[in-house]
Amino acid sequence: MICTANLQMQLGPQLLSTRYEWPQEDLGLEIPVECPYCGGETEVIGTWGSYPTSTGDVRRYRCKKCKRTFNPAKIPYWRDKVEEFVWKISQMVIKDRVAVNALARMWGVPETTLRTLVSAVKDFLASNLEIAKQLQERLSVPDTVKHSDLRIIFYDEGFIKLLGGNGFILFTLNADGTPINVAIEPRRDGETIYGYFVQAMTQLGGIDMIVADAAPATLKAAKALRQPLILVQHIHSGRGKRARIIKLEPIPNRRGIWETTVELHTGSLLPNAESKIIAKRIRVYPAKWASPTPRKKRPMKKKYSEQETLKRTGVLTSVEGAGSLGKKQKRKPSFLKGHAVFLRTGANPYEYELNFIPGEVDLTAADCPSLTEIQTMLGIVHQTLPKQFISSNRAEVFNALHDRYNVYWGRKTLHHANRDVRAWTAVTFFPEGCHALLRRQKWHVPYRLLVHLLPLMISKVKIS
Ligand SMILES: [Zn+2]
Repeated sequence: MICTANLQMQLGPQLLSTRYEWPQEDLGLEIPVECPYCGGETEVIGTWGSYPTSTGDVRRYRCKKCKRTFNPAKIPYWRDKVEEFVWKISQMVIKDRVAVNALARMWGVPETTLRTLVSAVKDFLASNLEIAKQLQERLSVPDTVKHSDLRIIFYDEGFIKLLGGNGFILFTLNADGTPINVAIEPRRDGETIYGYFVQAMTQLGGIDMIVADAAPATLKAAKALRQPLILVQHIHSGRGKRARIIKLEPIPNRRGIWETTVELHTGSLLPNAESKIIAKRIRVYPAKWASPTPRKKRPMKKKYSEQETLKRTGVLTSVEGAGSLGKKQKRKPSFLKGHAVFLRTGANPYEYELNFIPGEVDLTAADCPSLTEIQTMLGIVHQTLPKQFISSNRAEVFNALHDRYNVYWGRKTLHHANRDVRAWTAVTFFPEGCHALLRRQKWHVPYRLLVHLLPLMISKVKIS
């Protein structure tokens, strides 16, 4: 006989603070009650009163075969389910953002005990993010959606306030929007971003396209890779729809690289569109950075150091008064000065008509790219982002999701912020991998927690 328990967790509604959305789900587990000593099954198990504890009565069971009594925490089923609880707790705390103190209150377990466990789980997931990813890949059904053969990464960053300073969440995603790497850094300069590009490139075995924002640091980092690739930059400015497609080409045996830039409306590659685009080709010299060390500890920027070094001018300016926008600030590049080209797209993909616009082009200039070159660039972007505005950046979706689920309240250290964002990434994007990983681990859930938690869950078991 199988006893079933409805695991809706008997939580008094008065304990639910309005701040927390309790995931109302029925685990639907069937709980076999078994004697932990002789293995006697449900038929021979009866209830045997209860005993009081500091957090309420715990039911006791008795085996009719061996005549021994036990509390629910001893039932083998529960003992084996520790990993499931750990999984459930990590999902609640890390992903659904249920506060640990609320859980502690609801379950009637000491907050410190629960905090210790949650912290251990977060540390474990954060340091095993790569393994969770790999496990997930092995467990999941292969993706049947055909992506472009080009190796593409999406890059974005967000601004967060941390204990005594600023932090930036930097991340790269692959073609289907899965994180390649995610981290919180005190800086987001070219060299730091370069480190993430190298990591992504190593994981994908190369890189053909980067989709990012228009920050100069992003372009600097892409150039420093010294790889033939295309960088698509979305120039954010209010509801602006401007983008740049930048083709980078190393010149063999030279320090310089070719940088061909096309500036256009983000909808210019949609079918049946007519646009005026600006193009320019120059030779540039990328920065040279040693092997990337994105994990390197750098001193956090002091909160007010920037203001202190500002010289008082006597006259207040809007620039000085603007302060931090609280969100990432991006310098918007001015309009590209180059050669004007008329572009008309057809109804079918890769149908382009390109013509220089007379009077707005200098064909003799060294920085005038050929139409063939522009066509090739557009073709690659089109192939990678078919039927989309070329500004479609999956990284921005990730950023919004991160903002929705992670709150730092400026109280976290860089170390803890990084641990938490990695644990969150693991649980959110690689749930199957995480689950498998957590199940492999022997968890030392404090006995006190089990004793308090399990009877609570088993309270609805019907012994028939
Ligand atoms: Zn027994």
